[in-house]
Amino acid sequence: LIRFENVTKRFGENTVLDNLCFSVQPGKHVTLIGPSGSGKTTILRLLMTLASPDEGTIEVNGRHLYPAQEKERREARKQIGMVFQQFNLFPNMTALRNITEAPVRVLGLSRDEAEARAKELLEMVGLGDRCDAKPTQLSGGQQQRVAIARALAMRPQVLLLDEVTSALDPELVAGVLDVLRDIAHSTDITMLCVTHEMNFARDISDEVLMFDAGRVIESGSPEKIFSDPEQERTREFLSAVL
Ligand code: ATP
Repeated sequence: LIRFENVTKRFGENTVLDNLCFSVQPGKHVTLIGPSGSGKTTILRLLMTLASPDEGTIEVNGRHLYPAQEKERREARKQIGMVFQQFNLFPNMTALRNITEAPVRVLGLSRDEAEARAKELLEMVGLGDRCDAKPTQLSGGQQQRVAIARALAMRPQVLLLDEVTSALDPELVAGVLDVLRDIAHSTDITMLCVTHEMNFARDISDEVLMFDAGRVIESGSPEKIFSDPEQERTREFLSAVL
């Protein structure tokens, strides 16, 4: 479903992704781990078309994101939703309105249809009673759960999660991870996730990719990577974070 082939991304002299190749099969949950600066966030930004690669091919569901004509890129991009570290909710809109805005404007749903779906999603993330709350009236964990509902409202086939708990107070992390675990276990959505929460990665991942210096240096099941990694670099990284 997601395919990176020989993708290179540079910022000036800095080669952030170096001839990167990997793929994620439909419905799988893949976690990217690795030291800070190894290029994990850049991968998600390329998929969101927030940045473009210098070389290589990126495909989603057989449609090209790069290289591609604008129209094909837009179609490919529509299949992807993302939740960011900072929740990025629209501050002047209620939780419900944050979720309905894009489906109405981009997918062309009627406001009633969009609201019915948004209410279901808020229910699913445990906020069925907070439809009318503005972001400032919600805790960070609640805001992040609205952001998850907002991403799902676009019915993406792929959900990208970029360190979605790292801006949260520690006591709010579990609630957000529980919601994501539920989504991982109860839907067939494909997930690509950058996280420092190794227990969460172990729970939800079908595969873990270990990055270093813009390349995948090791990949495998979470059991394999966390318990018996082959690369010294992976071992060092895990002993620093676990
Ligand atoms: P972290 O865990 O710290 O988020 P990461 O593995 O996600 O790290 P990236 O955010 O992808 O790493 O960054 C990889 C490298 O690219 C870093 O050296 C960073 O400084 C550089 N970089 C990222 N975005 C830009 C940019 N817009 N301009 C210049 N350099 C950038």
